[in-house]
Amino acid sequence: MRSPVENVLSFDLEHWYSATLLRDAVTDPTERIEESVEIVLDLLARRGVKATFFVVGEVARDHPELVAQIAADGHEIGSHGHTHRPLFELTREQFSHEIERSTAAIQDATGTMPVGFRAPNFSVTPRTQWAIAVLEASEYQYDSSVFPVRTPMYGVTGAPVRPYSIDPTAPFEDRPADHALVELPLAVFHPRFKLPVAGGFYARLLPTQLLQWGIRTLNARGLPATIYFHPWEFNPAVKTPSVTAHKRFVSFHGINRLKSKLETLLDTFTFTTAASVAREYANENDLVSYDTPSPVFQSEDSR
Ligand SMILES: [Zn+2]
Repeated sequence: MRSPVENVLSFDLEHWYSATLLRDAVTDPTERIEESVEIVLDLLARRGVKATFFVVGEVARDHPELVAQIAADGHEIGSHGHTHRPLFELTREQFSHEIERSTAAIQDATGTMPVGFRAPNFSVTPRTQWAIAVLEASEYQYDSSVFPVRTPMYGVTGAPVRPYSIDPTAPFEDRPADHALVELPLAVFHPRFKLPVAGGFYARLLPTQLLQWGIRTLNARGLPATIYFHPWEFNPAVKTPSVTAHKRFVSFHGINRLKSKLETLLDTFTFTTAASVAREYANENDLVSYDTPSPVFQSEDSR
């Protein structure tokens, strides 16, 4: 039986060679974006699931028909920056410019202004928390960039694991607030150990049963799991021998099996767009009682 909690299914749409580990290593890359998106759109159409695609502005600019097609299929289009540069490499002003350009490119392709943002490499951390004020000023309604566990490449220790109304002056604190922007943190699957199994490499590496257990654990507490993939991760044709064994492992491990993994997750759980879940949390004080945290989060809250 499917769980009643609606989870967030998201895809970050960029070129496969835009990944941090590959962008400098791959020379003369073959374009795979259209065939990769087609694989994912087919899968979603067969399962009748709507998802959010966080699209790089340059991709929307260069492939407007592709992005229009995704929107025409009923999926949400959010922004994934304009150039796919992580926020660590940008100033606040440059980020503001990135948002402006990606918003315009998406609007040109789809006729609709995006309301959600995902930072390349989940790069919204204390170092770059000015991003939240920029998103608010740009009339975005939600952000989905906070990875509430520290990993070698990104993440924020101690950030909330549940969706919350985000305070630009204290963006990683879980406290009653009524701000314009909702944060949908990426799923971590155990309140104490916080396994970062929300998607990408981790979803490709870990067995389906563990992913299911993780989503079930969050859903049992009434919390949505926000998970993410890249369309290219469903396309074995992207595998290239021209990078080191380590980069090959992190970038391509599990690609052949990811499609059936996602199908199993779609059969087990309910998924929808990020905007739809963010709307539910837009007035979170109605939904979350901060006075009586659920027992499983108590140890974490009191730390
Ligand atoms: Zn990305």
